[in-house]
Amino acid sequence: MTEAIDAELAEALSHVVDPELGTDVVTLGMIRAAVREGSTVRVELALTIAACPLRSQLQGDVERALRHVPGIESVEITTVAMDREERAALMSIARREAQQRPIRSSVPPTARVLAVVSGKGGVGKSSVAVNLAVSLARRGARVGLLDADIWGFSVPRLLGLDDKLEVRAGKMLPIELPLDDGLLKVVSMGFLSGEDEAIMWRGLVLNRAVQHFLEDVAWGALDYLVVDLPPGTGDVQMGLARMLPHSELLLVTTPALAAQKVAGRAADMARRGHLRVAGVIENMSSFVCDHGEEYALFGSGGGERLAEEIGVPLIGQIPIDAAVAAGGDEGRPVALDSTSPSGAVFAAIAELIATEIAPAVEMSNCSAILFGLAREAVSAPS
Ligand code: ADP
Repeated sequence: MTEAIDAELAEALSHVVDPELGTDVVTLGMIRAAVREGSTVRVELALTIAACPLRSQLQGDVERALRHVPGIESVEITTVAMDREERAALMSIARREAQQRPIRSSVPPTARVLAVVSGKGGVGKSSVAVNLAVSLARRGARVGLLDADIWGFSVPRLLGLDDKLEVRAGKMLPIELPLDDGLLKVVSMGFLSGEDEAIMWRGLVLNRAVQHFLEDVAWGALDYLVVDLPPGTGDVQMGLARMLPHSELLLVTTPALAAQKVAGRAADMARRGHLRVAGVIENMSSFVCDHGEEYALFGSGGGERLAEEIGVPLIGQIPIDAAVAAGGDEGRPVALDSTSPSGAVFAAIAELIATEIAPAVEMSNCSAILFGLAREAVSAPS
């Protein structure tokens, strides 16, 4: 039985969504208890499958949500495994919720969603998103790249693609690019065929357009979904937070103080949407001339200061490099060549993300039963 949870804790916990079932942990009855003792909350979290790797993700999310509650300084979580009856009750709630929920994202629940954001345009956000996606794929991952910059899309140009999306069985198929052992699956407004369709899409509220990309694209299996978000802190960002509450933000900034301030605003937005900021990437860090001398053309230390301010790691610093711009212009991202200085930096960033910051969810030791049930819940007739 769930004990009564005070309203403030329940509100905070209602933002924690089970990634498989897409419903919050309070509604699903997974919070058996949440009791305050001074500035500590003790939580008993009931999990569907004790050994599932999603467990640590969920625990982290619970802790983060409760730490947002004023006066709470520490969170202690005990996990217990649900028995068969409790699981059945949870599945019937999940089924009901899935039917009521208007959004049915086709992004697999285990894909780690990395949303690349910046406070303002021109800091190299799209270049970072594309090169990061390429580097992750080159490491062997299956990587979706969603160009959610609906008006200012640049991903097709950066990858040298002018394909059109094919539609099969009512779903759009991403453009697939095999890269070494991995696979890149790309979707952008720029791939929509025909003026009519483009006009129809542009007529949609931006947020709806992104929703369509999440619902109506056959993403298939994915380890990562890298989302190139429009700059700023608008509706698309909040919409993504609502549609994919597991999105984690990568903040792109330049070393300049002003850029750092606006990127800080994006971090505030993340907090309001209860999204995790995974880290900061500083772009256009310094310029190294042919003689090896380094020039901080756009100032220095912005990325580090921002990362410190919001308490997240500085994941990497990409130099000002003509090869980044040239690669973009030629549609051959610099990350394709890991022997180039910037290509090597992107490879290192991808390695850090894949091994420490946001490792792909390894499902091999997780029972497939729950997935079957979840799929059944979503496809059940209403
Ligand atoms: P945003 O998405 O933030 O608007 P873009 O990725 O479109 O920014 O980059 C803006 C411009 O800066 C592009 O011309 C791009 O090629 C260039 N650029 C981005 N990063 C670098 C870099 N590290 N060195 C040199 N030029 C860069």
